[in-house]
Parts: sequence; structure tokens; C-alpha cells
Amino acid sequence: MTRSLRARLFVAQLIVLVAALVLVVVLTAREERAWLVRHRTELLERSVRLSLRDFAAPSVSAAGWPAAAQALGERFGYRVTLIDSSGRVVGDSEVPAERLSLLENHAGRPEVRAALQQDVGRDVRRSATLGVELLYVAMPVRRVAGLAVVRMAEPLSEVARLTASLVRLLAAVGFMVFAVIAVVIAWLTRRHTKRIGALSAVARRLGEGDPRARARELPADDVGRLGQAINGMASELRRRLSALERDRDEREQILAHMNDGVALVDGAGHVLRANRALATILGLPLPPEVGTSFQQFARSPELDELLRVARRSAQTVELDLRLWTPQQRFLRATATRLSGGERDAVLLVVHDLSEVERLNRVRQDFVANVSHELKTPLTSVRGYAETLLEGGLDDLEHREDFVRVIRDQATRLQVLVEDLLSLAELERPDARLRLERFDLREAVERQLGGFRDRAERARLGLELEDGPPVVVSADRLRIEQVLANLLDNALKYTERGRVRVRVGGDPVHAWCEVEDTGSGIPPADLPRIFERFYRVDKARSREKGGTGLGLAIVKHILDLHEGEVRVRSALGEGSVFRIEIPRDASAT
Ligand code: ADP
Repeated sequence: MTRSLRARLFVAQLIVLVAALVLVVVLTAREERAWLVRHRTELLERSVRLSLRDFAAPSVSAAGWPAAAQALGERFGYRVTLIDSSGRVVGDSEVPAERLSLLENHAGRPEVRAALQQDVGRDVRRSATLGVELLYVAMPVRRVAGLAVVRMAEPLSEVARLTASLVRLLAAVGFMVFAVIAVVIAWLTRRHTKRIGALSAVARRLGEGDPRARARELPADDVGRLGQAINGMASELRRRLSALERDRDEREQILAHMNDGVALVDGAGHVLRANRALATILGLPLPPEVGTSFQQFARSPELDELLRVARRSAQTVELDLRLWTPQQRFLRATATRLSGGERDAVLLVVHDLSEVERLNRVRQDFVANVSHELKTPLTSVRGYAETLLEGGLDDLEHREDFVRVIRDQATRLQVLVEDLLSLAELERPDARLRLERFDLREAVERQLGGFRDRAERARLGLELEDGPPVVVSADRLRIEQVLANLLDNALKYTERGRVRVRVGGDPVHAWCEVEDTGSGIPPADLPRIFERFYRVDKARSREKGGTGLGLAIVKHILDLHEGEVRVRSALGEGSVFRIEIPRDASAT
């Protein structure tokens, strides 16, 4: 392309140059010849005029005209023709007298015609007599009988020779000028096409995706301006590319960090894009490579069918499905055909509902548990009430026992409802602590006071190890609820021995341990005892009036304080429940 442009520029300039040179040579040659002819004409005129003086005093008779012509011809070195008023040639320096009569009448010759009309006649033409090109000048002769015109003629061969030599000279000079200018043109053309070639290389590199390519040579001419324009275009291109890349990276980031699985599948079922979450949700180790068949990747006939339906539908289609990956997963997949862009591409979004499903199941279990817990005391209350109504009131011996059972079951219901309400309140998202400063040891002592009678009745020791006050900033009522639950459990599940409480702390934390010598908890049950309604020994818990909610409440309260509860237990030897809270709950 560059070479052809260069060649074309070079050839075009050479053609113009040759045309100009030829024009100069031709015009100069023509001008030269015209000038020579003019000059010769003047010389001829001067000679004719001189010859006319000879005829002023006519000494020559008509018979001597041929000799006179001969003499004049020799004197001036021209061909001299003498013509009478009828146009007949009466003497000619180059025609013998005896052949004059053979010459045709000259009255029609332009120069003779002008002279016969008393004017100076001039003409240039090929002589019919001599067959060469001649310059003629004719003048009228006055007052000479038998003679009207003297004409002199000179062959133009001299002029032609001079013109030809000039043309040769001009041609030689022209050729040299041509050679020099051709070299200059070639150099200039090469220089320009080289610069254009450099620019086209920059443009090609830009086209090949190298945004750093720049034109180097930028002088203030047209090529320089083209370079500047290319550089401007490259900067703009780079700016736009960066914006596009940024945009793409952001989209990739969004896609990569989405919890939902996303895939774009083309009309032929090949994956155009997909994120990692898709593989995770489908239980696969890696997301699909671009171009992989979605069918082979997901191996889910339901999802394949969903994509097929979506391709034919104008709306988003939705499907709930269950996968075993290997654990059961509940998924909701939506597929939407995309308008524009890739033809028939479908955007598939897979949402993992397993957690939602799990929470649903937890709620259902909870409702079932609550119903179950309520059912037993309610059945008892109803049963004993009916017994009383159906004659039990008259059974003096047992009726008091019946009423006592009804009261105990009602108390159990009340405790259950209170625990449920506590739990509901603690689980509210806006649950807040009412912080106050108090001595944890003193709070423990107060709670112990409430359990002392019960411990004595059960013949169990109940002691608090001595120590300094441990001041905390916490929700006093809730911490007391924790202590009450732990002491209640310790007494409930201890047959013999004692319950010992220790309180202590460091500058940051305060702790309290409730240690019993009771039944202990099997290691397998330890991780679950803080779950709602979880009991190690259901019958025993119920018999002791337990709701299965106490430790769940303890855990919630400590979570709200950003503290923790731990348990150490040895089966048959006893358990130690330890709670730990920050000294200043508000500071955490
Ligand atoms: P409950 O009302 O049944 O006591 P909790 O939530 O307070 O319910 O306790 C859950 C279970 O943990 C109890 O049913 C019991 O099996 C076990 N447990 C709790 N505290 C003790 C303890 N100090 N010693 C032995 N087992 C305990």
C-alpha cells in the first residue's frame, strides 16, 4: 500500500515534470524561431530597400532585368526576383533569362500582391520553384517602367538549424533538470511515504490491541497533524478501554461474590459465563469453562428442561427443585431469555433455599415441640377436672389430690409459657440490655437465698466460695435469670452431695461457676443441651418440672452480653457450668 502510494506519487510528479519541460522546450523553440524570422525579415527589408535605390536612377532597360537581378543577388547574397505590374517575373537571380517565361505569374503570391498594392509584402512558405522553405520580402518600385516589384528571398534552413540546435541544447538542459528534480522528488516522496508508513504501523498496532502505541514524529505539517490525530484517538481509545475493563471487572466481582448461582447459556446449550456460586450450589468442585455444555456440567434434567422452556417463553420461568449433592438441597431456579446480544441466550439464576428451608423446619419443629409440651399438662388438667365433675368431688379422700394435680399442671403450664415468652423476647431482633453496675457476687448470694429451702429439703449442700466483690456492668435481671436457671438445674439433677458456686474475674471479664455432684451429662449430649427443648432424659426432666428451655435462655442472654457459657461434665460425678461476661458489656 505504502509502496504503491509512493510509486504513484513519484510517477505522477515525474509526468508533470516531463510535461512542463516539454512545454518549456517547445515554447522556447517556437519563440526562438519567431524571433529569428523577424530578425531575418528586417535584414531582408533593409536589403530590398537598398536595392530600390539602384532603381531610382534607371539605367537598366527592360532587357537587362535578368542581369540586374543576377547582380543584386550576388551583391546581397539573396535570391532576387524582379516582377512587373502584371505579376510576370522579368528577372530572377536563380533562374536563367531564357527560362523566365516558363515561370508562372507571381501576381497571386501574398508578398507580391501586397507590393503591387504599394505595401511591403512579407511571407514565409515553401517555394514552388526551389522546393525549400523561404522567407520573402517584396516592395514596390516606383517610377520605373516595366518593373513593379523587387522581391528578395532567403531560405530558412539557417533558422531551422539554429532552432534545432537550440532544441537540442534545451533538451540537454531539460534532461539534467529532469534528473536532478527526479532525485529530489524521489527523496521527498520517500521521506513522506516513510512517515505515512510509520503512522500506518502505529494505527496497525492500535488495531491489534496495543493501546500504548503512539506516533513519534509530530512536526506542524499535514502528516504531523495526522500523527497528532492518531495519538488523540489512541488516548481516547485507551480511556474507553480502561472504562470498559473497569466496568467488566466490577461486573465480574459482583458475579463472583453473589451467593446465587448465575449462568448465561447460549441457544446451543453452551455456557457463555458462570460464577463459582453456581458450582457450589450444584455441589460441583469448579465452575464450568466457557463453551462447556450446560447439560454435561449440571447433569440436571430439570434445569435443562427449564432452559428449554425459557427459550420459548417471553417471560421469566421459575422452578423449585431438590438436589442431592450429597446432602439434600432446596433450590429455586429462574431462567430468562435475553433480548438482544447473543441469540436465544438464557440467563439462569439458581437460589439456594436450603437455609430458608432449614429455618422453616426449625419453626415447624418448634411449633410441634411447644404443642407437645402443652398437650401433656392440658390433658392432665382436663382429665382431673372431668373426674371431679363426674363424682370425684364426692370422693372426700382423693378430691384434694385431684385439685393439687390440677394446680401443679397449671403451674407447669405457667412456667412453660413464661419461658417461651422470655425466649421470644430474647430472640427479638431489637432485644436490648438494660445495663447497670452491680456486684455479681451479691447477685449470686441473693439467688442462693431463694434456693436454700429447696436445697435443705433435698438435703443438698449449697455454698458460695468466699471472694472479693466482682462489679460488672450488665443487665441485672437477665443475669439473675441465668443464675436461677443454672442453680435450678444443679439442684434438679443432683441426688446427693452439694452445689458449689464460685465467682471471680480479671480486669476485663467476670465469671461464675456452678458446680454440682449430680448425674452428669453424657459427652454425646453436651453439644446439644443448649438447644430448645433438648433434654438428656425427657421423663426425668418433665418429672422435675423442667421445660427444656432453661439452657436455651441462658445461652441467649450470654450471647446478648457477648459472653459465653461452657460446661464440663463427667457422667455420675457431676457438672460444672461456667458463664463468662465482659466486665463492661457496653464497652464491647
Ligand atoms: P430442663 O428444663 O429440662 O432442665 P434445660 O434447658 O435447663 O432444660 O436443660 C437441658 C437438659 O440438660 C436437661 O434436660 C438435662 O438433661 C441437662 N442438664 C442441664 N443441667 C444439668 C445438670 N446440672 N446436670 C445434669 N444434666 C443437666
